[in-house]
Amino acid sequence: MRVILVGRAWIPIVLVLTISGWGTPSSASIARNLPSTDTVESGSGQTADREEIRLATRRGRIRHTVRRGETLSELANEYGVTVDEIRRWNDLESDLIRVGQELIIRTSSSRSNEQNQNSSGRNSQRRTGTSYIVERGDTLSRIAQRYGVTVSDLTAWNPGINPDRIREGQELSIRVPSGRHRSSSIGRPNRGRLSLGVQLEPGPGYRVRNPSRSWGTQDTIRLLTEVFDRMHRRYPDAPNVTVGDLSYQRGGRMRPHASHQSGRDVDIGYYLVNRSDQGGFARATPETLDVRLTWYLLKSFIDTGAVQYIFVDHELQAALYDYLRQRGATQQQLAEWFQYPRRNGGGGIIRHARGHDDHIHIRFRCSPMDNRCTN
Ligand SMILES: [Zn+2]
Repeated sequence: MRVILVGRAWIPIVLVLTISGWGTPSSASIARNLPSTDTVESGSGQTADREEIRLATRRGRIRHTVRRGETLSELANEYGVTVDEIRRWNDLESDLIRVGQELIIRTSSSRSNEQNQNSSGRNSQRRTGTSYIVERGDTLSRIAQRYGVTVSDLTAWNPGINPDRIREGQELSIRVPSGRHRSSSIGRPNRGRLSLGVQLEPGPGYRVRNPSRSWGTQDTIRLLTEVFDRMHRRYPDAPNVTVGDLSYQRGGRMRPHASHQSGRDVDIGYYLVNRSDQGGFARATPETLDVRLTWYLLKSFIDTGAVQYIFVDHELQAALYDYLRQRGATQQQLAEWFQYPRRNGGGGIIRHARGHDDHIHIRFRCSPMDNRCTN
């Protein structure tokens, strides 16, 4: 699984960087653009990939290994080529492809003559960079995290900025490829789908209830594993929490949920007091909720800057709210975090929704690079 992902994640980034004229990226700058969830492979595997991709890039073509469920039209869409082209380059007699089959995809640099001839120009709008307007409360590391780049990338691309003092409204230039070749959350969480999804694998501190229902965007999976890593470093002895549903590999309707369709929703059990192991979701009350662990988890999600909403039952919000007030949280912080004491409406990232007394529901915002995604 991950071996394939490494390959898939590498190719497009290298190509886009090379094609769009940001110079030849060093190995280090390529490595920084890898989603961190993909970096678990051993160094030798990555070196091999790197070499292979360098060669492939020079030759102007990509070797794509077909994964389960992929279709020619989807691949064409993802690589910005046509079905006919893929068929021609691979001498395919029909549109049928099989898992494990290797397909040659030519990159646009090697196709430029062809393209000029038919003047389709459909690859000419490949985005080479983007800009980000700083919002209140942003830090450079938070912005870097959202884009999957590093703070030093940001300072390199924005030579004038003072990393310790960015201001609201300031425009930052960010050189990342557009959503193509990355996973994409298409449409809305309650009417959408997922392209090039990544599967959450179990890790320290959490269990995955159902692998076939545990797919998300690259950003969703990266953020989840980062938060669980942080949780595990801080509380290595905390019981495992259960991760329930995310999305199907290709998204779409997932009963019994309305949302969970586009790879940006995830259900997670609560930490409860006096429970060494949590086999699944268990109903929490203000008395049984482990507010310390649960808050650390929620705050870690909020700190990613990538969370749109967190659904938590009203009564449990009350328990967290009281805990934080006793520990000196300001009214402003509490209002930013919680809908409580309101029951409906109002602001606050953490909101009440029915059915969230046995699990937390996290909704991530659209990745800023994903132009097919609707918040
Ligand atoms: Zn949910």
